[in-house]
Amino acid sequence: MKNILNFPSPLVKLSSDFLFEKAVNLWMKREDLIHPQLSGNKWRKLEFNLEEMRRQRKKGILTFGGAYSNHIYATAAAGQLFDFSTIGIIRGEETLPLNPTLAFARQAGMQLEYLNRTTYRDKEKLTKIYQSRYPDYYLLPEGGTNIHAIPGSARTAAEIVEQLPLLPDYICLACGTGGTLAGIVAGLDGVSEVLGFSVLKGDFHQRDIRELLTNANIRDPENWSINTEYHFGGYARRTPELDKFIADFKKEYDIPLEWIYTGKLMYGVFDLIEKGVFPKGSNIVVIHTGGIR
Ligand SMILES: *Cc1c(COP(=O)(O)O)cnc(C)c1O
Repeated sequence: MKNILNFPSPLVKLSSDFLFEKAVNLWMKREDLIHPQLSGNKWRKLEFNLEEMRRQRKKGILTFGGAYSNHIYATAAAGQLFDFSTIGIIRGEETLPLNPTLAFARQAGMQLEYLNRTTYRDKEKLTKIYQSRYPDYYLLPEGGTNIHAIPGSARTAAEIVEQLPLLPDYICLACGTGGTLAGIVAGLDGVSEVLGFSVLKGDFHQRDIRELLTNANIRDPENWSINTEYHFGGYARRTPELDKFIADFKKEYDIPLEWIYTGKLMYGVFDLIEKGVFPKGSNIVVIHTGGIR
């Protein structure tokens, strides 16, 4: 089933006068090129969850997300491509016409249900309600983040180590739930420092990621941190400055970014390079986690 997906995803070196002047080496792991609909980290997190779903002999996946969720989109696409049923529990009220994410999900065969924000927040209650309502479905938390997401994301890290002729000093990626970062940390086991750039307000990541690693029985190498300086006001918030950065980046490197995750990541990384935070000669890998469509 995996032969329609592009593995290993390409690792490309970025070059520009700016990077040359700052004397840092920068590579980008193009997880956005894995598949047009199963792009990036969402496929990595799904892969071993699909195995778990089959092992439990469930007929499909029931999962949760906001109306613009990349995870909802990717799960619907995976259901269609690999032939299993999908149910998406969407936070908030139904709005018609459906936005492009939900229109795609429905067209891919996902059954959509809506849930008020208060109940949505109570994760334990959610599990109880939906497990008894849909006993044939494998429940996957929001963002696809759980212990089975880790081995897939760890593959990204292993591929980087295989593809790069030297060991990276830093690996940088955007963080929503932090599930992808947990997998990267697990896959590297201490060879590089991992920098997560939070796209949300708040500082729950440290705790959530530690808890996830513990639940997955993975030793925490503790060489990772979360930068909370580049969320631009919170999840899915954007500013003209961020939009301009994304447009300029496309012109200079011919690589598309979006404003929810990878735009904020690259803005942050370039700002830290500009400020001289990475020592001269540093080998830095950024992960393009996808989200382009
Ligand atoms: C979901 C998503 C993330 C965040 O991944 P987490 O594992 O939740 O931290 C980052 N980038 C893109 C493009 C995403 O869609």
